[in-house]
Amino acid sequence: MKLIDGKTIAEKIKGEIKAEVAAIIDRDERAPHLAAILVGEDPASQTYVTSKEKACRSTGITSSLYKFEETVSEKELLSVIDFINNDPDTDGLIVQQPLPEHINTDRVVASINPAKDVDGFHPINMGKMILGLPSFLPATPMGIMELLRRSKIETEGKHVVVLGRSNIVGTPIAIMLSRKGNPGNATVTLCHSKTANLKELCLQADILIAAIGQPGFVKATMVKPGAVIIDVGIHRIEDKSEKGYHIAGDVDFKEVSKISGPITPVPGGVGVMTIAALLMNTMKAYKKEL
Ligand code: NAP
Repeated sequence: MKLIDGKTIAEKIKGEIKAEVAAIIDRDERAPHLAAILVGEDPASQTYVTSKEKACRSTGITSSLYKFEETVSEKELLSVIDFINNDPDTDGLIVQQPLPEHINTDRVVASINPAKDVDGFHPINMGKMILGLPSFLPATPMGIMELLRRSKIETEGKHVVVLGRSNIVGTPIAIMLSRKGNPGNATVTLCHSKTANLKELCLQADILIAAIGQPGFVKATMVKPGAVIIDVGIHRIEDKSEKGYHIAGDVDFKEVSKISGPITPVPGGVGVMTIAALLMNTMKAYKKEL
């Protein structure tokens, strides 16, 4: 079994960013600055935001957190976004999802300045991504692309099967890998809950990307021997350990890794690369590269 070591690759990327930020500060210039908006007390959202702040700190990127009660109005949220959009000292802005039901998430995402949209969720950035124009790419698929690139996994001419068609993972990674480029030039099949012959399609995959949100869904019987496995899933599974839980993915790692080719672990695979990609986007926003 060969692990695709997201942790080591993410640490290398963070090291590169840290050196770049140190050089900026040495020139007496302002450090890059990422702002995050967090609404409510959802524990997973709090964990993600804390990891992002910690990653910023470790590289020298400044971070600020705008925290709101679950009851915050959409109007108030939009006015804070408007302030950050126009703040010359803030380069990137993320709004942690999910938002409470009384807030229209599409309206909130569309209100973010596309030049600061380091999550790449704004319709303008999504549209540019589809056209292959320079844009902020959504962090998770961008992290997967970086993982494939730096692990030297060939995608050209390969059959990639993506499980899950969410706007933040499945759909964008399917588009990115089917476009011209390296990684890219793959033939992609995008599967979802209405796909009829899921197992047969998975068995044809040279590269299988699982982003369906079902723990251990991909079994060894669904995998072609030697296939590359990218596991996007993140699940907190309760157990009898001291912590009381462990983190698992959408793939039955124990069984699948016995027959697969290179495979990402969970944790230590796509999750850490997502954060690394967010930092890369923050640097792009700081340098006004897009
Ligand atoms: P999501 O919005 O939960 O959507 C799940 C997708 O999987 C949908 O397209 C759904 O089909 C499809 N699906 C669900 N059950 C299926 C089944 N039995 N067979 C075939 N398709 C099925 O997805 P997401 O937000 O992309 O999240 C997926 C997983 O990745 C979650 O575990 C999430 O926690 C994790 N995640 C991890 C990261 C990271 O940084 N590593 C980032 C984001 C998400 P329909 O469209 O037909 O409903």
